[in-house]
Amino acid sequence: MNQKGLIAILGAGESGVGAAVLAQKEGFDVWVSDSGTIKPNYKKELEKRGIAYEEGSHDEEKILSSVEIIKSPGIPNDSPLITKATQKGISVISEIEFAGRYSNAKMICITGSNGKTTTTLLTYHILKQAGYDVGLAGNVGKSLALQVAEKDRTMYVIELSSFQLDNMYDFKADIAILLNITPDHLDRYDHCYQNYINAKFRITQNQTEKDAFIYWADDPIIKQELAKRGDEIRATRYPFSLEKKDGAQAFVDHLQLVIKTHKDTFQMPVEELSLIGDHNRFNSMAAGLSARLTDVSEERLRKSLADFGGVEHRIEYVATVGGVRYVNDSKATNVNSCWYALQSMTTPVVLILGGKDKGNDYREIEELVKEKVKGMVFLGVDNEKLHNFFDGKVARTEDARSMEECVRKCAAMAEDGDTVLLSPCCASFDLFKSYEDRGNQFKERVKAL
Ligand code: ADP
Repeated sequence: MNQKGLIAILGAGESGVGAAVLAQKEGFDVWVSDSGTIKPNYKKELEKRGIAYEEGSHDEEKILSSVEIIKSPGIPNDSPLITKATQKGISVISEIEFAGRYSNAKMICITGSNGKTTTTLLTYHILKQAGYDVGLAGNVGKSLALQVAEKDRTMYVIELSSFQLDNMYDFKADIAILLNITPDHLDRYDHCYQNYINAKFRITQNQTEKDAFIYWADDPIIKQELAKRGDEIRATRYPFSLEKKDGAQAFVDHLQLVIKTHKDTFQMPVEELSLIGDHNRFNSMAAGLSARLTDVSEERLRKSLADFGGVEHRIEYVATVGGVRYVNDSKATNVNSCWYALQSMTTPVVLILGGKDKGNDYREIEELVKEKVKGMVFLGVDNEKLHNFFDGKVARTEDARSMEECVRKCAAMAEDGDTVLLSPCCASFDLFKSYEDRGNQFKERVKAL
């Protein structure tokens, strides 16, 4: 064993393999362990680099002899192996924490319950179009660790989930964006909302006055936390709001998107934004603020906010068949994102809900459902909770156990002028491989109608 000791990496996906490459480059012994099957492309990468690995089980003795563990965000902190490691005093960190130690790049980090991927890709688009040497990392794109190991960049735009934030300690975001906080993933937080909120607020840890904290000024949870935390958050604050108000650095005023920084004020008509809906105004304001703080010119920013191509599976128009519009919002894996999708609907809706429930409270969409939804198809293995809540509140509810059955039943329920909306409020893993698989199957079935 070399002097630096052994780093154990749990989970051989994008972040684990990237962390392994960086750890090897930095002179550690590396052991990659995945309790499931490792995808062939990742296996090949590890073999090519001579990195030792196991799959199908965890060699506990070896893992517990490491100096540090880098854990995939998918593995809960209270899993037996992680509990043993922490009891033994071994530090357990995320891949982003590890990669951050070896890079001096400017880090623009984005979290929130909803809108992370959209805002991350939009921010990346703006910075890339502006000609910066920028990388895309976190939940999207290549792992930060791999990029740092292979060709470090001047700046990164990083999407951070609460699970990644859970195991981040010394990492600092130069620009932190917190879009919103609504209940999500409570099954991973002991069904305690505050634990999840605390994880999200870790995005501000280690920030100084020189750093920026961009957040939604009107989010009740963020407001409450800011009042509670006071000076603990040292970063310069850049709140955004849908309305012009005291302190807001970005807002909408007379149908103009306004972004203020210490230098100047940027404006553009909201109708020129490529992304539609209130939620996307928030995303555009957050991305726009970070771009202005990174000195992107007004002209470049205006162009990029107008020509951004959107993101698949997020309120994505699929087709109109027999006068019925079909919209794929498969990425709506919690109740709040479905709320925004429903809010942006202007016709009667046939709504597809269902999948793996993460502790959902459907009262949040109850009013909108009563107002806009004429029928529902529940697409999941276990639809009982949905029936208990919605039966009697909408004219018709039906069950489906496959996408083929689901789209067929929706088409039968919908009439000319209606919208069929897949915005399921739930994770997809009971019937599908992923939300992408669910969205793609939806699109295929619609196109085959
Ligand atoms: P995330 O990466 O946080 O899951 P996405 O950008 O993938 O967020 O969007 C997920 C879902 O949330 C989509 O259904 C989208 O329509 C909705 N959404 C996007 N931005 C916001 C926002 N700022 N607030 C609430 N919902 C949003």
